[in-house]
Amino acid sequence: MSSNPPTQFEQHELLHKELLSNFIVHSCINCDDFNEANETCSQVNQRPPAKIVVFGCPKWTPSIPF
Ligand code: SF4
Repeated sequence: MSSNPPTQFEQHELLHKELLSNFIVHSCINCDDFNEANETCSQVNQRPPAKIVVFGCPKWTPSIPF
């Protein structure tokens, strides 16, 4: 039994997640100051603009999982 190969979107999503989890790209998503529950930055208590969410900001700090 064979499974279907991943779609281009699935491949892109996997690559993007890998780049984020290894801090190769910076984003609010992998910043220690990002509150995932309410999608806000704890430094300013606001939801960052989309461009900042995607690319991060100069205060980006890696979110270490411990
Ligand atoms: S990257 Fe900047 S704006 Fe985004 S959560 Fe971190 S400190 Fe806040």
